[in-house]
Amino acid sequence: MEKKRCTVIVLAAGHGSRMGGGVAKQYMLLRDKPLIWYALHAVEESSVIDDCILVTGAEDISYVKEEIVAKYGFSKVAAVVAGGKERYDSVYSGLQAAAGSSGQSGAGSCAANRDGYIFIQDGARPFLTEKILERCYKAVQSDRACVAGMPVKDTIKIVDEDGFARQTPDRNFMWQVQTPQVFDAALILYAYERLMQEKERLMREGVSITDDAMVVETFTDCKVRLVEGDYGNIKVTTPEDMAVAEAFLKAQKDVGRES
Ligand code: C5P
Repeated sequence: MEKKRCTVIVLAAGHGSRMGGGVAKQYMLLRDKPLIWYALHAVEESSVIDDCILVTGAEDISYVKEEIVAKYGFSKVAAVVAGGKERYDSVYSGLQAAAGSSGQSGAGSCAANRDGYIFIQDGARPFLTEKILERCYKAVQSDRACVAGMPVKDTIKIVDEDGFARQTPDRNFMWQVQTPQVFDAALILYAYERLMQEKERLMREGVSITDDAMVVETFTDCKVRLVEGDYGNIKVTTPEDMAVAEAFLKAQKDVGRES
């Protein structure tokens, strides 16, 4: 089967308020590289991914172009575009650039990808691997929509407003969801266009959109396949996560030294 074009949207437009401190978490140093370097490096080395749209804060575009993309030679980054207030606004901005319909100056010479696949990746997940990308590519070819995740290890409780347990869902059917989240380009573009039309209503109804699969589930009848990610594919959100990420890197290095 001929390989379809795969464009990844790497999200780095969050403010990282749960991290504390002055530097946005995506630029904080993990070992000697900015956190965002790790996802971009995995993309650069990947034989699955063809090109990349990097979404960042409007005020950070020049910095990111010079100090991240040019400095480390990330040649797959076709465009650096401004994100928005919520994660889904940033994804939409990346999708417009990927579809070639972005009016943003940062979208550069990026050729439109409307009939390949779109991978959506949190820039705050430094441990993206080629194996995860390969598994997702395989699944999206058959199912059109898939997300990386892992079965939960802990029991999950649904609680009421006062913090009392209301329900205990069967753990055998519970997965924690990661990125990448991967879709047919036309499918995800359609779902996000619908979201943008309906987001005021959803906000009024108190629905919060926390991942891309949810957008596809809400606005299309396409089922989203869960694909094995990795327990190490963590998202760096709080300072403790940074310490865990440091420990992972050290463990990887030690294994490399032994083998
Ligand atoms: O906020 P959260 O940890 O869920 O963010 C996940 C990813 O989405 C991060 O890489 C963050 O930079 C990105 N994000 C974004 N635009 C936003 C909010 C989050 O690109 N408005």
